[in-house]
Amino acid sequence: MKAIRVHENGGPEVLSFEEVEIPFIGEEEVLVKVESAGINFIDTYQRSGLYQIPLPSTLGLEASGTIVDVGTNVTGLRVGDRVAYTNVAGAYAEYAAVPADKLVSIPESVSFDQGAAAMLQGCTAHYLSMSTYKVQAGDRCLIHAAAGGVGLLLIQMVKMLGGFVIGTVSTEAKAELARNAGADEVILYNDRDFQSEVLKITDGAGVNVAYDSVGEATFAKSIDCLCRFGHMVLYGNASGPVTEFNPATLGPKGSLFLTRPTLFDYLASREDLDWRSGDVFRWISENKLNLRVEHFYSLSEAQSAHQALESRQTTGKVILRP
Ligand code: NDP
Repeated sequence: MKAIRVHENGGPEVLSFEEVEIPFIGEEEVLVKVESAGINFIDTYQRSGLYQIPLPSTLGLEASGTIVDVGTNVTGLRVGDRVAYTNVAGAYAEYAAVPADKLVSIPESVSFDQGAAAMLQGCTAHYLSMSTYKVQAGDRCLIHAAAGGVGLLLIQMVKMLGGFVIGTVSTEAKAELARNAGADEVILYNDRDFQSEVLKITDGAGVNVAYDSVGEATFAKSIDCLCRFGHMVLYGNASGPVTEFNPATLGPKGSLFLTRPTLFDYLASREDLDWRSGDVFRWISENKLNLRVEHFYSLSEAQSAHQALESRQTTGKVILRP
């Protein structure tokens, strides 16, 4: 089968399109023929070395597809079932061996592309808005990179919960997408100082929560956008990691909360996996959640897909089709 392998850390050029063996499955695993593999910003961190993975590796943490073989101890799953998963390495490939307990079934009304997009980015938006900081009606919420894969979903979920969304984006075209997703206000953060804009929009009160996936470039100012007891949710590093911070500063700024969450803790139990993916699939089926899946690449084009994602050319979900 074909797969995208990484032998050394580096730029998109280290993504190698190769012929490899179809993986063997263990007793508790199934073999999935991958129809759609999600591309996520975390893949770029694993490729570059910002997040360490064993090398060589097949990249990719999220996919949907059809079961073509089932391990001897697996119950409740059959050849031909439509499934999706996240947090298992090796999705940039034609076939993947996946532990049965990581799989969820995709409803008929949800496409393979939607199924892949729902797992990592959909469940991330779910845990951020429902668990890390549970948005209450009337809460003011700042969402950076609002037209990105997670961003567009997070806007919609915060709106479902009754929050007021201030999004930030780099271009007017992205601002339009964020508004269409429900953002109440959008700031072009490359052109304007987002901190003073947020304080203006909120009449000086600040926001209850800042969802910050941009990291280094926005972190300090995001904290200064918060109201008393506000929550700083740093969940990504698109501009680079935050490496220096003095927690003592959280007190005088209003007894603030700071967290650095990761999806994999919020999907660690089967109950959480079923709850989050079930909500996301149901909202897609009921047309309450619009998944913008716009950028498609074949497996051999993985380098171009990473280049586009890292140079801020993409919006919504980026999909690889093996
Ligand atoms: P996106 O589609 O959001 O792409 C990243 C966006 O970040 C870009 O489109 C760009 O939007 C913005 N950005 C700002 N500064 C930069 C920069 N210097 N270089 C590149 N992009 C920049 O990606 P994803 O939806 O896949 O992921 C979004 C973020 O969420 C990532 O940081 C990712 O690591 C994080 N994440 C964290 C998870 C967790 O559990 N902690 C789980 C899933 C994702 P613009 O042009 O508008 O500025």
